[in-house]
Amino acid sequence: MKKVSFKTLGCRLNQYETDALVTRFHQAGYQVVDYATPADITVINTCTVTKQSDQKSRNTINQAARKNPAGLVVVTGCMANNHKEQLEANEKITYVVDNERKSQIVSLVDAHFKGEVVHPDSYSGDVFGFETVDKSLHTRTSIKVQDGCDNFCTYCIVPSVRGRAVSRPLEEILENIRRVVDNGFKEIVITGVNIGRYDFEQYNLERALEKMVELPGDFRIRISSMEPDGFGPEFYKIFQHPKMAPHLHLCIQSGSDPILKKMRRMYTTRSFMNIVENFRKKISDFNFTTDVIVGFPGESETDFAETARVVKEALFSHVHTFRYSRRKGTRADRLEEQLEEGIKAERSEVIRQISEENRMLYMESMLGKTQRVLIEKVSDKGMAQGYGEHYLPVQFSTADSTKNVFQDIMLDKVNSSDPPFIIASI
Ligand code: SF4
Repeated sequence: MKKVSFKTLGCRLNQYETDALVTRFHQAGYQVVDYATPADITVINTCTVTKQSDQKSRNTINQAARKNPAGLVVVTGCMANNHKEQLEANEKITYVVDNERKSQIVSLVDAHFKGEVVHPDSYSGDVFGFETVDKSLHTRTSIKVQDGCDNFCTYCIVPSVRGRAVSRPLEEILENIRRVVDNGFKEIVITGVNIGRYDFEQYNLERALEKMVELPGDFRIRISSMEPDGFGPEFYKIFQHPKMAPHLHLCIQSGSDPILKKMRRMYTTRSFMNIVENFRKKISDFNFTTDVIVGFPGESETDFAETARVVKEALFSHVHTFRYSRRKGTRADRLEEQLEEGIKAERSEVIRQISEENRMLYMESMLGKTQRVLIEKVSDKGMAQGYGEHYLPVQFSTADSTKNVFQDIMLDKVNSSDPPFIIASI
């Protein structure tokens, strides 16, 4: 039995695609081993969103080649699209497979071991050709509903590496949900590059979600990450359904309107805050998390102060902060007034601190409430861990709970360890 190991960098979409590949290799008779274990095949699912991601992807490729000198190294993911020629010239890499053909890696590896000489580009592309993820991997599973993006934000390389926006047919998505629910999954994360732009026949995301929550079974749906444009004024309504998790990772990127304009984002700070306020009027404890880019070209002290103010005001319980990173081929790379790394680091630290304060405030505001926790782990001493519907990490003591079941609990106390979590009781 050949051994295969995986390393994933970057976003949740990449993680989903790796999980689907793991399932496919397993079904094809390969032994899936930990990344640290020597393997006959190592699949590296790369990311190229920042310079640091490129560097991490390169380091991982070198490490994999060192660890398995006789094994196959298969490199896929966004870096495989963005730096294809450079990677193909690297003799440590056996195959470079672009995102469109990622789902065909098992066939490619099978052909290799049968002694066939096949170029990855000879397979046809299918961005939705992934297998339903096997239940042994995680307690929650992702389902890809969309790929690509047409927004062309000026800093972003994603439209060039993931291509134009495409939406998966709704019936395929519903069938995929039916199968993962039958496989025992209780939480389904809806994922894609820009899922707010889901558009299949007469279905936008809102209408498609209405169909998803109508499906039978004891499960809940979480949205992975969304852009704040393309929102209908009544989008909050779908989150009032008991199968929808009241949490959105809504990417603001900046709290300064001039910077948002330079980024070519399709909203203003005010319209963003209108969404947040509108949701919280209807669902007062709704959890918002976000992404912020600090140090975009020309970001002045005043622009940054606006971002810090908005991040505080929106009470995001978590902020994923990125230092702006120049990407060749993007418009922002050609802008003047590029900022020094030191300024970016200082600004990133300010946002990190606000994010931590917000997280504690949000956690404290949730004390005394009940949550439905999906248990991810139970220790030998009977301590269960998991996430409630609002996506807060929770721990509680239990005599008989097991992994992958829902448990209703009461949130009692914040434990301010790093990272913090909430202590709960049944
Ligand atoms: S919305 Fe903007 S940031 Fe997001 S993937 Fe599309 S171009 Fe990139």
